[in-house]
Amino acid sequence: MDGAVCLTSGGQDSTTCLFWAKARFAPLRALAFDYGQRHRLELDAARVICALAEVPLTVLPLMILRDLGGSALIGSGTTIQASGGRDGLPNTFVPGRNVLFLTVAAALAYQYDIHDLIIGACETDSSGYPDCRAQTIQALAQTLQLGMDYAVRIHTPLMHLTKAQTVLLAQEVGAMEALGHSHTCYEGCYPPCGQCPACQLRARGFAEAGVPDPLLHRT
Ligand SMILES: [Zn+2]
Repeated sequence: MDGAVCLTSGGQDSTTCLFWAKARFAPLRALAFDYGQRHRLELDAARVICALAEVPLTVLPLMILRDLGGSALIGSGTTIQASGGRDGLPNTFVPGRNVLFLTVAAALAYQYDIHDLIIGACETDSSGYPDCRAQTIQALAQTLQLGMDYAVRIHTPLMHLTKAQTVLLAQEVGAMEALGHSHTCYEGCYPPCGQCPACQLRARGFAEAGVPDPLLHRT
């Protein structure tokens, strides 16, 4: 098997991707970024999940995203809204975030002679983030390949799945225990608030899949 680098955020989608990748790539490495997220819980979750998956985690600082400012997910003091950003995007949109993340991931992969990257980007059920689209990811893979003169493949196992299908995939790849430690809530609380757009999307996915959310039943 070939090695791979899986981007992880401590969230539901990246946790599912990590376990999906575990069955397909070896050695597998996880990569998370510290970019001044308003909730430290995200990085704590990523650490616990990678420990459960027995995948080594690298955390790299990317404070440039915080320094650029502008998103409700960075820093504190801004209310999270489902719209209110430019062109109707949620105000949680961080411009170009995945492009930056994948570029750094490709550079890290290069150090390890790894050619495969995994990201939990998803067009379906997403909030319309332009950097989650398949077209963006494909174009970026090509750019990275040209820019590094090095084969780069970007895998997006969740791209065309609904949230319910992602829950079923998580079951299939053995990610349910780890999902009990994942973090989704925009309010950054545990137990999750259940009211914010992220909590509602997650709850809808589990309900449609007919599967209880292990996060809500964590012991
Ligand atoms: Zn919430």
